[in-house]
Amino acid sequence: MGYAMKSANIQLGRIYGIKIGVDYSWFVVFVLITMSLSTQYATLHPQWSPTTHVLVGIVTSLLFFVTVLLHEMGHSVVAIQKGIPVRSITLFIFGGVAQIAREPKRAVDEFWIAVAGPVVSFVIAIACMLGSVAMKPISGVANAVLTWLGQINLVLALFNLIPGFPLDGGRILRAILWGWKGDFKSATRTASGVGQFVAYSFIFAGVITALRGNFFNGLWIGFIGWFLLNAAQTSYRHAALKQSLAGLTVRDVMSTDCPVVSGSIPLSEFVHDEVLRTGQRCFLVTQFDKLVGIITLHEVKQIPQAEWNSTPVATAMQPLDHLHMVHPSDPLVGILEKMTTEGFNQLPVVEEEKLVGILGRDRLLQLIQTRLELG
Ligand SMILES: [Zn+2]
Repeated sequence: MGYAMKSANIQLGRIYGIKIGVDYSWFVVFVLITMSLSTQYATLHPQWSPTTHVLVGIVTSLLFFVTVLLHEMGHSVVAIQKGIPVRSITLFIFGGVAQIAREPKRAVDEFWIAVAGPVVSFVIAIACMLGSVAMKPISGVANAVLTWLGQINLVLALFNLIPGFPLDGGRILRAILWGWKGDFKSATRTASGVGQFVAYSFIFAGVITALRGNFFNGLWIGFIGWFLLNAAQTSYRHAALKQSLAGLTVRDVMSTDCPVVSGSIPLSEFVHDEVLRTGQRCFLVTQFDKLVGIITLHEVKQIPQAEWNSTPVATAMQPLDHLHMVHPSDPLVGILEKMTTEGFNQLPVVEEEKLVGILGRDRLLQLIQTRLELG
């Protein structure tokens, strides 16, 4: 797999400068796989002790985790070779996600980055299968573990090759269409269309399986379908959004006419004399002629109205040093995401240590809306 998502996770460390983390949802899968493996080992190898069944189950799960990580490392190493930095790899309920800093600029690069993961899984599958044969006369445990790892990695490689976005196969399909027709946008649309079709097929198969009496398997297949559907829609929206902002910089949307207020006046005076009189939503705050922060309606509303008389603007404002500064030439792609995840409604635009404008989230959203509507 290989698209970005954000959620809580535990950091394990760094490999190649890439942060490796585990999402909490991964533990659910770890327990489920360990339980299912222990049961499977108990059926296949009744001569082992119950402790061995559980221990081998845990070891196999951990090794599985390593192979999923290697799959993601496959994507990451190729991405880095193509000059695209990789920030992190996170393992979660359905596998791993490598967060690459930007989309590849060329179809060939996207193709090789996407292919690398399944190739790694295939190589691991073959190595494990050969290993299991070699280990058969020596160790029953090693044979069993390697057999399972070989099978699961083969499944992993094949599943990821399903040609629907956001799976690797979807990225491969997009890269081929993109390279062939030269149209990134329509290639993305097709790949996510196929992705949604695949997702609905999974959901449908899940329902049928459940109706036939195999409720647990049906639920699981349906769950995978629901996840794929969500991911296909999200990654398409994301791609469309990026497309709509491509080539634009902060300078194109920033406002340069923000009024200035003094930080020492009370909020009540600020609201009556400035906000209600001018209708402006964003103000720069100065203290002794020095710019110290930004205040918007959002900050005003945080303070109860009864306290407006006794609270100076400087107390309610967003201090400048808490805000992330942007440069007029910064590309807009990525900034909106940062504003959303970090909860900023306004960012100061600074050039050569001078404030030259304010980038407002509402204005940015308006621009995106307009550009999406006009295609
Ligand atoms: Zn992958």
